[in-house]
Amino acid sequence: MLSLGIDIGGTKAHAVVLDDDNAVVAEDAIFTRRGLEGVRQVTLEVAQRVADKVGVGLRDFGAVGIGIPGVVDRDKGEIASAVNLRIERMPLRELLADQFSAPISVDNDVKATVVAAGMLLDSTSVTYINFGTGIAAATLDGTLVRGKDNAAGEIGHLVLNPNGDPCRCGQRGCLETVVGGAYLAPRMDMLGLDWTKLDAADTPTGWAAYDQAVRCISQIVGIVAVAYAPERIVLGGGVIGAAPWVIPAVKSFLIDRGHMVTFPPYAEIAERVTTLDHDNQAPAIGAALIGRV
Ligand SMILES: [Zn+2]
Repeated sequence: MLSLGIDIGGTKAHAVVLDDDNAVVAEDAIFTRRGLEGVRQVTLEVAQRVADKVGVGLRDFGAVGIGIPGVVDRDKGEIASAVNLRIERMPLRELLADQFSAPISVDNDVKATVVAAGMLLDSTSVTYINFGTGIAAATLDGTLVRGKDNAAGEIGHLVLNPNGDPCRCGQRGCLETVVGGAYLAPRMDMLGLDWTKLDAADTPTGWAAYDQAVRCISQIVGIVAVAYAPERIVLGGGVIGAAPWVIPAVKSFLIDRGHMVTFPPYAEIAERVTTLDHDNQAPAIGAALIGRV
């Protein structure tokens, strides 16, 4: 049986086909289009591309899963709100149902990603923290931790510093305003800094930005480590992928902090922090896995 997984991101729609051994047998990505009709078309187009690669039709997939950022009503297969795609409510499953034979699962993209992380790391105790345009976490603890309204792990708008920068949510100093891509990228531009090489900065502005970022990401790791106590803490998303210095810097920050306090057990938490080798594939792989359930 072939399983189709599609991740619809703010920039790209990425599809994979998994065989029964969870190997990726086809993959493709195209640029996202916004709005209801745009998302429907892009989903079908990228699905058709991978179907062609494995020589089947859309109706031949045994399972279909779609991951999308935002609040998803999994039971109805509806997107309640996806700000980056300019969607308020979209009955995605209903709009696509006539194209596929298999039932379609629609889920939040970070929830899908942690399912893939669990498979790839061979662990059932994993938290995946996505540092993309926004910030969100999802946890696998034997089973996926969904919480009320499928909203467990939506940590991006927890306030880190009440005197910090204003956030589009109306508060100040949310985690996203410090290390979410939507705020980080323009701030780096404004300060004339290069996020990808911030560890090599040689100005006080650069040192301060480096310090702030490492501190914030470490704090986020600490929050999820204490809240969920997972065996593995996976950091991923574009903000992490673009900057190879982040993981070692965060680990060393946590280890240093571990010398000062006994709880939280920061040094031991540092050992649990990791990344995925194929982080960019993981959301689509996870969507395919969720489609089988
Ligand atoms: Zn906010």
